[in-house]
This record gives sequence, structure tokens and C-alpha cells, in this order.
Amino acid sequence: MYGKIKDQLQKELADIKAAGLFKDERIITTAQGADIAVNTGDQVLNFCANNYLGLSNHPRLVDAAKRGLDTHGYGMSSVRFICGTQDLHKTLEAKIAEYFGTEDTILYAACFDANGGVFEPILTAEDAIISDSLNHASIIDGVRLCKAQRYRYANADMADLEEKLKEAQAQRFRIIVTDGVFSMDGNVAPMDKINELAKKYDALVMVDECHSAGVVGKTGRGVTEEFDIRGEVDIITGTLGKAFGGAIGGFTTGRKEIIEMLRQRSRPYLFSNSLPPTVVSAGIEMFDMMAETSELQDKLHKNTDYFVGKMKDAGFDIKPTKSAICAVMLYDAKLSQDMAAKLLDEGIYVIGFYYPVVPKGEARIRVQLSAAHEQAHLDKCINAFTKVGKELGVLK
Ligand SMILES: *Cc1c(COP(=O)(O)O)cnc(C)c1O
Repeated sequence: MYGKIKDQLQKELADIKAAGLFKDERIITTAQGADIAVNTGDQVLNFCANNYLGLSNHPRLVDAAKRGLDTHGYGMSSVRFICGTQDLHKTLEAKIAEYFGTEDTILYAACFDANGGVFEPILTAEDAIISDSLNHASIIDGVRLCKAQRYRYANADMADLEEKLKEAQAQRFRIIVTDGVFSMDGNVAPMDKINELAKKYDALVMVDECHSAGVVGKTGRGVTEEFDIRGEVDIITGTLGKAFGGAIGGFTTGRKEIIEMLRQRSRPYLFSNSLPPTVVSAGIEMFDMMAETSELQDKLHKNTDYFVGKMKDAGFDIKPTKSAICAVMLYDAKLSQDMAAKLLDEGIYVIGFYYPVVPKGEARIRVQLSAAHEQAHLDKCINAFTKVGKELGVLK
């Protein structure tokens, strides 16, 4: 009987709205890109997508998706281990391993599933998971689904990690787990130091490269390229839903015995459908493009340096970043919302974040740069920030 719970839900929804925390969805009427239209008829420049390489509507990926449709059909109607594995899936898995310099790869419907299904098959109550405090929700959920002992260290704090590693010597196996790039600040995990500590205290290392793959490192190979430890990290998880075309799909890549065990025991892999041929075919094309040239990374890195430099020159307080994420610090929740609204009036689409998404008193606007942005887009954005910043007293 849908009665009492309806009243309860209505009340909770009203509370969320009253607290100003209700998430409304803006409706885009074009393909994803630097320049988009929304259903109010406005044309805006997009600075809040994870479309880091500008591949979300790239003609080569669109063509490859159509090719996949023509040669391998629309859907799989099966999980991988029954009758849901095509030659395309095996090719994509091999290309991902080649890209990261790893031994083998397993695909998932999303990285949320990759992280949800990575711990429980390989660790037990005898083992320890040592996790960065700012790790993604999907890692937190994956840890919850596993019986291993849990340790948490302060974000990128190596002294704290070392303490936790000492405590975790009581367990049989240990794994250190971190995001490669932390999505609210844009900082990179200190993988060189994490790797050293892992060796010293006999721990495995897992990194979630969702915001770093395709972006960080000279050719975009992620944090293992940035810190010159290619092939040394035991487990890498990532998504096809951000820099790598933005459609859908996740993966775990790393040591071959681990990947083999995940194929046997990982629940989101065993009990969820295979990726469709359109997505897999475009994914293969995307990794072929990455193997040909790192032009897109060059452009993204140039765009990010230019934008961050100019914003600092203008007087904005920018969090130190080593990614394509630029956090413009405002510290005040209401100001972050007012500023994002005024920027939208100027044709710049960005999002203001505040507690509980970021710590109390650390409200900000997060700008995400892309290889799809041209110099004129960046200048328009910087000028709009400067104008609105002066109007709202953020800039003198
Ligand atoms: C986006 C993201 C995910 C989830 O990826 P999906 O493929 O969209 O499920 C997981 N981890 C991190 C760090 C992310 O940023």
C-alpha cells in the first residue's frame, strides 16, 4: 500500500529542497561538446563535462559505433560468460592492457561496477584495504561489499598512510587504494611515494584512473606515466565514460591472475549484461587513435596551463591542480551558486559545489578543461569569470 511511505518521501524531498540541495537536471538539446544548446534555447560554452579529450561526438568514434552496429548488431542479450563475448570485446580488452602497460583487462558496464566488484573476489576478513579519505563513492561501496579490515588515511597524506600500513601488518594481505586524480580539487595522488610505501610494507596498489586516464602524463597514459611507474601498479580501474569517448563502460586492468579471478568471481561482471557492440567498436577506434598520436593531450595540457595561468593572473584563488580540473575557490556556498548562475547568463556553463560535496567552508566552482576548447572559448570563459568576479566582489 503506497500511503505512509509516500508521505515520508514527500517530506524528505521537501527537506532536500528547503536545504537548497535538490539536484535539478539541465536539459541539453545538442550532442555533447564545447558549444552546446539547452532547452531554454540558449547556447552556452560547456566547462563542466568530463569530455576531456573532446571525443564525445568525435566523427571517428561515431563512424566506428555505426560500423559496430552494422557488423555485430545492437545488443548482446547475455552476460559475458554465457554467450555475451564477441571478438570485439577481446580486442578492446587487449587494447586497454596495451595502453596501460598491464597484463590483462576485464570490461564492466561501468567503472562503478568495476570498483564494486574488485575487492570481494580477491580479499577476505584476514586482509586489509587501506583507502584514501577522498576516494570515489564506488570504491567506498566496493570496500563495503568486502569483508576485509578497513583503514582510511587522510587525502594524499603519506605519513598517515604509513601509520595505517604499520597497523595493517596484522593482516595477511594489504592493498592501498586511491583515486588517480581527485575530482573536486584536481590534485594527483602521489603514486611514486605510494609505490615506495607499498614496497616497504608489502602491500598491493590499486588506482582508479577515471579522471586521470587519457589526461594525466605526457601521452595521457595516466598516473603511472606521470610518475614513471608503468606496469608497477597491480590494479587499475577506469571508465570509457569520461575522456575515452564518454559513452559508457568500465574496466579493471592489471595482474593477470587478479583479472582471471575477477572473471570467475566478480559479481557485477557475472550478473550484468555485456557492453553493446556500438560502444565496444568505438572504444577500439578510440584506443587506436590514442596509439597514433598524443595531439589531443598536448592541446588539453596547453589549454589547462593557459586557463589556470590567466585565472591566477586575474586574481582568482585556484587550488593546485595537476589535471584538467580547475577549482576556483570561493569558500561561500551561496556565492558559489550566485556566481555559477551569473556565469550561465554570460553563456558559461559551470557548476558551483558546496558542502556536503566538498568540506564545509570550501565552496568552489569547478571548471573542467577539454581539448575541444579553442582559445576563443577559454578567453570568453576567463573574461566572464573576471566580469562576474568583480560584480560579486570576489575580485577587487
Ligand atoms: C566517474 C567515476 C567513476 C564511475 O565511473 P562510471 O564508468 O561512470 O561508472 C568511478 N570512479 C571515479 C574516480 C570516477 O570519477
